[in-house]
Amino acid sequence: MDRTFIDFMNKYNKILSQEYDIDKSELDILYQGLIKNYSKSESKSESKSVCQAILKTGKSAGKQCNKSCTGEYCNKHNKHKAKQAKAPLNEVHNVIIRNNPHINKLWHELTGFVFESRENMHVIGRFNIESKQLRKLIPGDIPLCKQWRFKHES
Ligand SMILES: [Zn+2]
Repeated sequence: MDRTFIDFMNKYNKILSQEYDIDKSELDILYQGLIKNYSKSESKSESKSVCQAILKTGKSAGKQCNKSCTGEYCNKHNKHKAKQAKAPLNEVHNVIIRNNPHINKLWHELTGFVFESRENMHVIGRFNIESKQLRKLIPGDIPLCKQWRFKHES
């Protein structure tokens, strides 16, 4: 990973931690996790491979496309992948966790997830802005939790 980028992230996290009163070490953990996943997908797309898409129509229906490509899918089938894509990278970059004064707990405003404590950063429930109520985590929340790479109790 680029040294300049790491310097930049360090400065960025320092500003964030001062602005939002968050431990810088927690922010560092978040962005290091992102870098790990990012470099993984980067090296993956560089290696030559064949399209993994299963054809749905035509003579070869049910068979793999097998067209040579640089990523997991050829240009034609790449659209499928884009549709399934989870939170865009720029959204994941903006993970801002701050104190919610109504319940005096750390929360992530975009998803409403509420965390146990600074020392124990796992999701305990979701906060409803309209009712100002904190409810327990339900199984339906887990996919979103995973998408944002938040820890949760199973
Ligand atoms: Zn294909």
